[in-house]
Amino acid sequence: VSEGPAVAGSGALAALHRVFGYDAFRGEQEAVIEHVVAGGDALVLMPTGGGKSLCYQIPALVRPGTGVVVSPLIALMQDQVDALRALGVRAGFINSTQGFDERRTVEAEFLAGELDLLYLAPERLRVDATLDLLSRGKISVFAIDEAHCVSQWGHDFRPDYLNLSLLGERWPDVPRIALTATATRATHEEITQRLNLPEARHFVASFDRPNIQYRIVPKADPRKQLLAFLREEHAGDAGIVYCLSRNSVDRTAEFLTANGIAAVPYHAGLDAATRARHQSRFLREEGLVVVATIAFGMGIDKPDVRFVAHLDLPKSIEGYYQETGRAGRDGLPSTAWMAYGLNDVVQQRKLIQSGEGDEAFRRRAASHLDAMLALCETVRCRRGQLLAYFGQDPTEEGCGNCDTCLTPPETWDGTVAAQKVLSTVVRLQRERGQKFGTVQIVDILLGKRTAKVIQFDHDQLSVFGIGDDLAEGEWRGVVRQLLAQGLLAVEGEYGTLVLTEASGEVLRREREVPLRKEPKRPTTARSAGRG
Ligand code: ADP
Ligand code: ZN
Repeated sequence: VSEGPAVAGSGALAALHRVFGYDAFRGEQEAVIEHVVAGGDALVLMPTGGGKSLCYQIPALVRPGTGVVVSPLIALMQDQVDALRALGVRAGFINSTQGFDERRTVEAEFLAGELDLLYLAPERLRVDATLDLLSRGKISVFAIDEAHCVSQWGHDFRPDYLNLSLLGERWPDVPRIALTATATRATHEEITQRLNLPEARHFVASFDRPNIQYRIVPKADPRKQLLAFLREEHAGDAGIVYCLSRNSVDRTAEFLTANGIAAVPYHAGLDAATRARHQSRFLREEGLVVVATIAFGMGIDKPDVRFVAHLDLPKSIEGYYQETGRAGRDGLPSTAWMAYGLNDVVQQRKLIQSGEGDEAFRRRAASHLDAMLALCETVRCRRGQLLAYFGQDPTEEGCGNCDTCLTPPETWDGTVAAQKVLSTVVRLQRERGQKFGTVQIVDILLGKRTAKVIQFDHDQLSVFGIGDDLAEGEWRGVVRQLLAQGLLAVEGEYGTLVLTEASGEVLRREREVPLRKEPKRPTTARSAGRG
């Protein structure tokens, strides 16, 4: 429509007002759009909800030709196109869900120059017919959405993304814009390299989501804790609850429903129709809670998700950030709430040990988990820790909108307690060659004459009963924090506690162990012992 950056710039603002009805650009949007409209390549790193779509939609409207959007989110294309058409944008898509006639119509529209935006699944570009089609039309810009799918290390890896470097080879004059919400430097480099975008200008938005309040609570009875959280703070609100297993998704959804909260399950074990129905209810209804495995949420654009709750520990900070980032896209106050406990650490460590992949893969997974655990156990500002992980400088004084800022946790010198735990493990492991998990260790420390303690003569150990100064929940907290700090490790399918190299430093009194104070547990400590 218009030529030259200055005119194009005003065309962009006009399109923002006229088509999308927004007053002003947000953050980096304007700079990105100006750069792409002028024909430059771009790599855009913005958190979920940051407003990435406009970064390619507006250039597609302003530049002559059709903007071609490569997206792995086939299930959402229809919705995206419908939403654009409702705004008067001429949009279409080509993917495998479509009938022949429908596809022919879209192709004809594209060739006639009647489309502003064309969405394509990446696998389409493997097909020569698609490439021929694209060659016969006029393309304004290529947008590669969810660009981190090109990374072989990520859990969203799509082999077809590796093909996309051919876009630059075949259409060297068409600007390309790659977009992602994944923030780590390694991923940026991989994207630049694999998509062959060496000249792309990088636009990195702040990863801070100031309207999200981060909270991580010790896990006691997670479903009851969740229910209390929802009733007290989010009655009638829409939100997402993440669980690790399908089974736990189903049981949690049932539990919430039985307690008067509108909730539906979502996981890969449900048939496609049920999943689609639950997803569209979530998008359209007010105040529905979706209980889901991580399969749910990628590309979901629901601005008023008021909370994201985790009943199980995510495997990495990237995952946690991405999942919690689905809350509060409208900028209004929202909560990221997680219940986290000893069993999460044991379970995740076991998963890594018994999981697939070579040694390097395991080491990588372990370091991701360590960073996640450090976030859970920190006594400093959680937001600060998150931003630091993504290479951003946090503020000195803390954010004032996370649990550790709002109620600073107390710490105590846990060196002696740590020595007691480690000595008990030494007695069993080194002196008797026995393998036991947390429950037995804690029973020994507390001096409990359980059947299992008697059976193994553990009441004869010198450490028997040396821990009656702390309650059971507190001991579990000590063990959890030792695991998180790498001062203790778990082994095997029964979660046997074993020493690490660093344990020796504590036993030899060469190292102090500051610990976070555990809140006092309810008296039903046994049933609460799940955490
Ligand atoms: P992302 O793809 O980065 O997760 P979206 O592009 O879906 O984010 O945008 C998130 C939400 O913010 C959408 O509801 C979108 O309409 C809205 N939005 C984006 N840019 C603006 C803007 N400049 N002004 C107002 N709302 C905006
Ligand atoms: Zn804070």
